[in-house]
Amino acid sequence: MTHTTTALTDIIDCPLCRCPDYQPLYTTTVFASEAIGTLDIQISMCEQCGFSYQNPQLTQETLDRHYQHHSSGATFHLLNENSRHFKLLTERNTFIESHIPLEQRHVICDMGGGQGDLISSIQAPQNAQKILIEPSCAIDQFDDPQIHVINKKIEDLSPADCPQIDLLLCISVLEHLKNPADVLQALQSKMTEGGYLVLEVPNSLTPYLQLAEFYSYEHLNHFTEQTLQQCLTQSGFIVIATDQTPSIPNIRIIAKKSTTLNNKTLTVNALKQYQTNKKAFIEQAFHAINDDIINKSLSHFSIYGTGEHTRAILEQFHFIDKVEYFIDTDSKKWGTELYNKPIIGPHQISDIQHRTILISSHDFELEIAHTIREHDTTIHIITLYNNLSC
Ligand SMILES: [Zn+2]
Repeated sequence: MTHTTTALTDIIDCPLCRCPDYQPLYTTTVFASEAIGTLDIQISMCEQCGFSYQNPQLTQETLDRHYQHHSSGATFHLLNENSRHFKLLTERNTFIESHIPLEQRHVICDMGGGQGDLISSIQAPQNAQKILIEPSCAIDQFDDPQIHVINKKIEDLSPADCPQIDLLLCISVLEHLKNPADVLQALQSKMTEGGYLVLEVPNSLTPYLQLAEFYSYEHLNHFTEQTLQQCLTQSGFIVIATDQTPSIPNIRIIAKKSTTLNNKTLTVNALKQYQTNKKAFIEQAFHAINDDIINKSLSHFSIYGTGEHTRAILEQFHFIDKVEYFIDTDSKKWGTELYNKPIIGPHQISDIQHRTILISSHDFELEIAHTIREHDTTIHIITLYNNLSC
């Protein structure tokens, strides 16, 4: 077979930061298809932002020729309960269910959704609209009357094609696109403010070995969490959740369209929320102290724990005069003093005259309660975080 003189690939600038300088990382030769023959694929890294992408890259003309006859969305798959495809579908639905309220799923759009399994299975309110945008031939066999199919590329969508999107699904698509940040930005402009994006791409930090090439010639972009984040930020999205346990080596995130939120305001909001929660939490945690020590006018008690946590309690409650002993597991502290009170070991608990111990620890509260019980089965224990059912 003789090639035409038209080049299959050309050299491009970084799709994220437009820097023209790059370093080759990896090269491989693959047979692509009858239409385009054998290809030398090179993955390069942007010298400026570190993004990895195919460079030289297949031209749009080559890609169009390829996708006319091929589609990774049309890959054979089983959809019974034990199949890999069913497991992935369940995982994605679970992730969506835990982060996206049902009432914010009025217009759901699956971009490059292959045969439409995810959008078909997703829960939606009554009268919700489901739209599948799939430019390839994968939708030829698609026939779900509930779903409106648009056989176009996202760049070619007109406002009349599709209402403002509340929930956009974009699974295994971004790695195929020539200008991922530009396409995301175009999609973002078709979404409602606060709309959700569910996005999945292969994780380039965890390639796996198989006989077919992991770095497929169809994948023009090779994301890590960091470069995906960069791409999303640039396109007006903010990541709100990352699936920590996908069963395939993918990065799976949920992001929100936001023209007002950015990482600064998110941090400020998180800190405000923390302050509010902390106040309520302290009130609740100290309820036990109020009930068991202050209100019962307990004359003396001991505190298990001599660290930061204890200092915080003693700052809040001025009852150091009532503390008989401090107890600590660390034998180096035994025989020393804290706030002029002796520190004893757990083996001395049964000698304590006043029969109440307050456990001052968040992380080890239950372990300490267990230790106390090993040495003394009757002494009264006050906990701040866990309910002791003994
Ligand atoms: Zn770059």
